[in-house]
Amino acid sequence: MVLRSFSAALVLFILSAASAQADFSPGADGAGDPFYPQAGNGGYDVRTYSIELDYEPQNEQLDGDVTITARATQDLSSFNLDLRDLKVESVTVNGAAASFTRKGQELTITPAAGLRKGREFTTRVVYGGHVNYVLDPDHSKDGWIPTDDGAFVVNEPQGAPTWFPANDTPKDFAIFDFTITVPEGRTALANGRLVSETHNGDTATWRWAESSPMVTYLTTATNGVFDLEKGTVNGLPEYNAVDPQTRRFGQKEPNPALAWQRLGLHDPALDLFTELYGPYPYDSVGGIVDWAPDVFYSLESQTKPNYWHIPTEATVVHELAHQWFGDAVVLEEWPDMWLNEGFATWSEWIWFERTYPTTGPTAQDQFDALYATPEDSAAGQDLWFPAPNALAGPEELFHTPVYDRGAMTLQALRQKVGEGVFFQIIRTWYSENRFSNVTTEDFIATAERVSGQQLDQFFQAWLFEEGRPESW
Ligand SMILES: [Zn+2]
Repeated sequence: MVLRSFSAALVLFILSAASAQADFSPGADGAGDPFYPQAGNGGYDVRTYSIELDYEPQNEQLDGDVTITARATQDLSSFNLDLRDLKVESVTVNGAAASFTRKGQELTITPAAGLRKGREFTTRVVYGGHVNYVLDPDHSKDGWIPTDDGAFVVNEPQGAPTWFPANDTPKDFAIFDFTITVPEGRTALANGRLVSETHNGDTATWRWAESSPMVTYLTTATNGVFDLEKGTVNGLPEYNAVDPQTRRFGQKEPNPALAWQRLGLHDPALDLFTELYGPYPYDSVGGIVDWAPDVFYSLESQTKPNYWHIPTEATVVHELAHQWFGDAVVLEEWPDMWLNEGFATWSEWIWFERTYPTTGPTAQDQFDALYATPEDSAAGQDLWFPAPNALAGPEELFHTPVYDRGAMTLQALRQKVGEGVFFQIIRTWYSENRFSNVTTEDFIATAERVSGQQLDQFFQAWLFEEGRPESW
């Protein structure tokens, strides 16, 4: 085509500009999880989060300044982050002021100019206010949970947006660094390696960096009065923190010595799981034993599990095993939770089998004891219903079958395919899926491929049908 006049060229120019403009559309306000459809967002993929926090525990005031680099996966006219309650003071995108609106957990950001698909862009959000945890559908506290000396910070499944603007989906891995300022005398912990510790007079600033990909629910910023010990285990930097006030729940007297003893399990447990599953995924290891007596759960935060009181041996081993299964191999959707909890619970069983060969119990002993539970007993109702991969909703995410029947599924698989093939399946599962998302269908496919067996009926009985499996 030949243009005949300037005005025709101008019309064409305007038309083409308009059609390019029309390509820009808002990113989705949710990542589409069946249990948490509003969590996460669409239209971009986060590369890095740089999180700066200033926390005043005496009035639970949290001020944040977060810079996020992301790559657009569509032409974006606007996009969302998840952020709860805290007041947003300013948002910039690529250095220019951006407008924003709030609705529920959605922070919708409209940059001054559209963001082209495939391009990287930088968003900075400055925010602050009184920080509130969120109550999950099962009534547990999630997110930034104040303690008497700081905060216990655990995010599974939806707590991260209580303290930073996030693409809060397990489908978006990113690299994180943290700069956290707390009153002098308090310690701020976070994932990864300690970069620096600066004392500013009334406050202290702690910088941490996690160099491996991480999803938002595995971040932490637990802070308070802690004894922090930096050591080395299996050639890795180890950061263990113990609140001097910690104790076993129900006991009056603090017992930090017992907490240190339990964290000493990292060394032998790392040896065992490395041998069984493959190399530990990260470049640091550690654990945080707080005293948070109203939380009632511990969590496998990446490189530094958080313990709400002094953990048992089984719990330390469980959270360490999650570093392979849950943290490095990450579920794509929350209803597949047994892929996290079944593996971590079975890891407790193999720990006792291998560590105490004469006194046990073996994993099969644990399986047998649970299998003996009659369906019509109270314990049986708890264990056999619902099936671990057929949960009715998010309120069942942490129910007993997800853990115990999930672990029984793996032990039954071990019986069915034999010891050598079973560990080959587990090792393949880890090595092929490290730092990526997985589904139950993926696991079944891996088990069938590695074993050469047709296992549909086996997994149907163990994962999808309620009631005690009678044959498989
Ligand atoms: Zn767990």
